[in-house]
Amino acid sequence: MECDESLELLSELHAGTLEESTALLIRRHLADCPPCCGVYEDLQTIVLTATSLGKSNDQLEFPDENAIWQRITVRRRTTVH
Ligand SMILES: [Zn+2]
Repeated sequence: MECDESLELLSELHAGTLEESTALLIRRHLADCPPCCGVYEDLQTIVLTATSLGKSNDQLEFPDENAIWQRITVRRRTTVH
């Protein structure tokens, strides 16, 4: 599995919507690829934050999804060779 492919599927991995065989490939890649693993950790943090904010106060806005992906893209440029 390549970095590009794995990064594209990270949100689905987190959502649990991938087939088990695909999820396994990504997890294997994450174990061998610190940059992708870091992005996945970021994603989990973002989702957890968004979820807890949503639970504590319905009036709060969720983080801007575009800003999140922009940040991930910047990180990819600096960490993936
Ligand atoms: Zn990677």
